[in-house]
Amino acid sequence: MGRRKASIPRGVGTAMGIFIDRAENAEVWDVEGRRFIDFASGIAVLNVGHRHPRVMEAVEQQLRRCTHAAFQVAGYDAYVALAERLNDIAPIEGPAKTILFSTGAEAVENAVKIARAATRRHAVIAFSGGFHGRSFMAMSLTGKTAPYKRGFGPLPGGVYHVPFPAAHKGITVADSLDAIEGLFKADVAAEDVAAIILEPVQGEGGFLPAPTELLQALRRLADAHGIVLIADEVQTGFARTGRVFGIEPSGVKPDLITVAKSLAGGFPLSGVIGRAELMDAVEPGGLGGTYAGSPVACAAALAVLDVIQDEKLCERADVLGARVADRLRALAQREDLRPIGHVRGPGSMIAFDLLQERGGTTPDPVAARDVLQRAHADGLMLLGCGSLGESVRLLYPLTIPDEVLDEGLDLLESALRLPGA
Ligand code: PMP
Repeated sequence: MGRRKASIPRGVGTAMGIFIDRAENAEVWDVEGRRFIDFASGIAVLNVGHRHPRVMEAVEQQLRRCTHAAFQVAGYDAYVALAERLNDIAPIEGPAKTILFSTGAEAVENAVKIARAATRRHAVIAFSGGFHGRSFMAMSLTGKTAPYKRGFGPLPGGVYHVPFPAAHKGITVADSLDAIEGLFKADVAAEDVAAIILEPVQGEGGFLPAPTELLQALRRLADAHGIVLIADEVQTGFARTGRVFGIEPSGVKPDLITVAKSLAGGFPLSGVIGRAELMDAVEPGGLGGTYAGSPVACAAALAVLDVIQDEKLCERADVLGARVADRLRALAQREDLRPIGHVRGPGSMIAFDLLQERGGTTPDPVAARDVLQRAHADGLMLLGCGSLGESVRLLYPLTIPDEVLDEGLDLLESALRLPGA
């Protein structure tokens, strides 16, 4: 830790004071040999678990053939095969095309570039509490100032935020839609808006699902005004919500989808999937990146998609999520535990809030921080989320064995025990 502090800036925070030695599926061992159950999955990256054997096998085979080409220099099959596969499964209306990058923020940046090129407009509407990444445009789109935007301005212009519906805070779908109509009247004409971007379930913002009614209304609004609808599926994608893509249950087809994180089971890979005519709006040379669509990461992603299908991970996400939500609702009744509530989220994208009072609604971010620290000390890797950090999110691999999940939930239960109880 001393070497870390001396050599690496504090701007990159680390939730836990441990250093990882090795990992297997849903378990991690640190350099001191302590075992941890992983309910963090490297921030939603390991839906198929650490080092899934089929992902390892695909990567090893690719390592023996070629590790880097740069797609702008020469093509390779893994990129094309992955694009075909994503085009087939993505909920996009009509023919689709896919371009690959490395990080979620890069996918978001490029989705905006594509939307601007296709519409020849500049503005983008995003939602308060949304998270889209740390690069300049993605940061501008992110709907939370501290710690993401404060002190980094000026940010790219043309970005407008509207409230995200949250029933527990009294913000309705009508409030969000009224805010967009208000923007059109006061701030930016609808015909200057290139895109509307949102997460089908806000991730960092607190695992808040976008109501189907909102998604449907945004689709109608986008159609009426020629606006590109972008679904940021970086955190929701690849079986976490019980579907391959989080937007699927709404039946709404976005124009562009950004993907990353669990796409490649631990290898850096992201992409934009979208309607072919939009995707082709940018002239040759306008999109790309040296490492974008690394052959090793593409090989991993093809294996991840096989695992999701063959191991029925969408169904498993629903089964595990129901089991976890039941247990959390039972914990919410317990007098010897800290007050929790607002258990929510589709599939295995489950979060709950720490509350000031049992049965109340006032959040307790200080309690949430204590619970995370206690869980970490006891051997459970766990993350917070929410606008105040009042929520705890559960992101176990979907391949976690039942007994390891239960062991993790036992650790969570003891981390929730009231001091002195
Ligand atoms: N979009 C969403 C919805 C995310 O959750 C994240 C990462 N938490 C990003 C974009 C940015 O991804 P990355 O950190 O890979 O740039």
